[in-house]
Amino acid sequence: MWFFLFIFALAVLLGLHFRWRAKYRAQQELRAAEIEDLRQRQQQTSVDAQAQQKILFDSMLEGLLLLDRGKKIYLANRAFKNLFGLKTELRGKTVVEALRLHELDELLQRVESAKQVLDYEIKLPGLGERWLQVNAAAITNSAGEREGTILVFHDLTRLKQLERQREEFVANVSHELRTPLSLIKGYVETLLDGARNNPEVAERFLKTIERNANRLDLLIQDLLTISALESGRMNLDLQPVNLRSLAEKVFNDLHSKAEGKGTKLVCEIPDLTANGDAHRLDQVLANLVDNAIKYGRANGLVAVGGKKLADGKLEVSVRDDGPGIPAEALDRVFERFYRVDKARSRDQGGTGLGLSIVKHIVQAHGGEVRAESEPGHGATFFFTLPEFQATLRDLV
Ligand code: ADP
Repeated sequence: MWFFLFIFALAVLLGLHFRWRAKYRAQQELRAAEIEDLRQRQQQTSVDAQAQQKILFDSMLEGLLLLDRGKKIYLANRAFKNLFGLKTELRGKTVVEALRLHELDELLQRVESAKQVLDYEIKLPGLGERWLQVNAAAITNSAGEREGTILVFHDLTRLKQLERQREEFVANVSHELRTPLSLIKGYVETLLDGARNNPEVAERFLKTIERNANRLDLLIQDLLTISALESGRMNLDLQPVNLRSLAEKVFNDLHSKAEGKGTKLVCEIPDLTANGDAHRLDQVLANLVDNAIKYGRANGLVAVGGKKLADGKLEVSVRDDGPGIPAEALDRVFERFYRVDKARSRDQGGTGLGLSIVKHIVQAHGGEVRAESEPGHGATFFFTLPEFQATLRDLV
């Protein structure tokens, strides 16, 4: 009897043991599955965070470079790669390996000691000058230990170009103003020193003073026009402008100048109507015709033509039969203060700003300018304008 009771108790105990073991195993499996799920979710979150970080860094306009503790590249954003024209994977490389730019190595050494270096400028080697500004800082953890370095690159090229253009402009303006001004001063001093007592000499000197004062006036007017055009402060008063009538008005205004040189003015422009600012377009055509008379030959011909182009725009041309313009100067004549023959331009009272003003006004109308020339056989200047489109309402 005791024996059966003992066997029964053992069987019960064994049964309990196996049930408990099975339950324990099931619980462990559940926990392992939960841990795996958590791990996968954490991994996904970290992948998502990295992807978001990449999108964020790649959307930056500045180049960004992150270096790890061993000064190896950990991350380089898209703007950085574009700045340096790099396409390969940079992770794990040193800056010198990736860029072969020793100035950056010098910068990294400075960050070692200074922790932060701001406004460090680098000129990139190669054709076409490129300038970069770099801000660099050490990355440290909460214990103050160094984790890496962050470098932010700005492209300074455009800014440097503008700075240089501004400096050149100021130097040119000063030079242009100084020439007539020193002539005026010189003649005034000579007059004061006694030349005024000789009426004939005095008259000649005063005429020179007047000519140079007019030149100064013209230069200042042109400078103000250029400044208004370049700053975008000039508003166009758009209206229908009949190009034939415009050419006739300009010919009328320049009639005596043309006559003085024996130049024949020919209007070959058909009846075309542009959408433009009449006053500004008068300035454009007058500048071109004035140049054609000034630089054309004596007893020559200046013709204004026009046609409608295939793209619907109107094209106006101003042609002369003078000495023309050398091929290398054809594009440059539209630059401020550029002259093919400096002495000749000044003798003719030119400011060197006329064609630059022409270009700005035409561009403000959405058109383009260009010049063609066969040296010895004259020059032709072309500019395009939008055609005036009459709406039904204008017609009734
Ligand atoms: P400028 O006041 O000297 O005339 P512009 O800007 O009007 O200045 O012209 C720039 C230069 O282009 C002139 O100095 C001249 O050398 C050249 N140029 C302009 N038009 C003609 C032309 N029709 N024929 C030859 N050269 C010209």
